[in-house]
Amino acid sequence: MKIHEYQAKTLLKEYGVPINKGILAENSDDISSAVKSLSPPYVIKAQIHSGGRGKAGGVKIANTPGEAISISNDLLGKTLITKQTGPQGRIVKKLLITECVDINKEYYISIALDPGKSCIAFVASGAGGIEIEETAAKSPDSIISKNIDIKIGVRDYFLRNIASKLEIKDVSGFIRIGRGMYDLFLQKDCSMVEINPLVETTDGELIALDAKVTFDDNALFRHPDVAELCDINEIDPKEAEAQKYSLNYVALDGSVGCMVNGAGLAMATMDIINAFGGKPANFLDVGGNTTGDSVAEAFKILLSDSKVKVIFVNIFGGIVKCDIIANGIVNAIKSYKSSCEMVDVPIVVRLVGNNSKEGNEILNESGLNIISKTLMADAAKACVLLSQESLE
Ligand code: GDP
Ligand code: MN
Repeated sequence: MKIHEYQAKTLLKEYGVPINKGILAENSDDISSAVKSLSPPYVIKAQIHSGGRGKAGGVKIANTPGEAISISNDLLGKTLITKQTGPQGRIVKKLLITECVDINKEYYISIALDPGKSCIAFVASGAGGIEIEETAAKSPDSIISKNIDIKIGVRDYFLRNIASKLEIKDVSGFIRIGRGMYDLFLQKDCSMVEINPLVETTDGELIALDAKVTFDDNALFRHPDVAELCDINEIDPKEAEAQKYSLNYVALDGSVGCMVNGAGLAMATMDIINAFGGKPANFLDVGGNTTGDSVAEAFKILLSDSKVKVIFVNIFGGIVKCDIIANGIVNAIKSYKSSCEMVDVPIVVRLVGNNSKEGNEILNESGLNIISKTLMADAAKACVLLSQESLE
């Protein structure tokens, strides 16, 4: 789960990391009062779940209160297209207005999981700021990466060593920041805690000017305070809906909607669609303890996606029985049809395994536009053909 910069900075502050003064604004009244209670110059920062805002015009410096107010009102409501948002961009619904800091030097520091080495790594660079990706690509040697031994944790000598490589003067300040980041990472089950840039001000202070904190979704149940930080505006509405029903759903760009049980079969289904020249519209694993209701919800999410030209239901009945799935599908289509009158998306179904006979009977008797296949390859081929026909 991702959170906004202002939330990440608030968390870091709780863990002893210095940040610059800033106020969140969501409308023009907020903007005026924020500007009034801060001292110029200001930095106006778009709060969207994306990096690269600076280069996209989402981070702006204003010298006077008047300028800050007009820049802020301009930025609020704008669509920002960054390297990470994709061409559709993101609408700016929140701003962080901060007091501008005079920068002497920008550093990059982060704590993240290194899946290759199965450990946590501390990553740092003396070339922080908006060019960090380019630095990492062009001169990887300038990036320091040190593994953290989970049994030892982050000790002073470990951080002193990094501070000396970065030629940081305020070593004790750096140690406090590094320890705070690590404590946050462990205590809140983060997958990443990043400060970029960490700046040395012209007064020699170390301050986190920008921060990104992401959390392991699987551990959110242990942190209701963290789960509350989720900004529903920033996630795909289809993914938000799927979360409510504990469905593992990821929206993708293609036109074949997929409803599958089991993550492995879901991956294989996406692969086989690709192999026949099609593109999946989503990843969806309805899971093992699915009920008719959650199948129906899953199906409605697929139907609500206008990119979906055909739906591929690929179920291997084991723990989940095929007749439960079939009933869920029929109910979903019936309730959807009465509300929208427009289910003309063809549905290709492959039900095998537990209660597949009953499941297929339910589908055949439903009178719906359903194509049944026994082999996965045949079903995938049919889906790709149907998705292409509807494009023409
Ligand atoms: P990002 O582009 O999304 O990573 O947004 P950042 O918050 O990192 O801002 C981009 C850049 O704006 C930073 O790397 C800084 O160079 C600059 N910046 C941000 N805040 C300040 C500030 O208070 N003072 C100055 N002088 N520059 C700032
Ligand atoms: Mn940044």
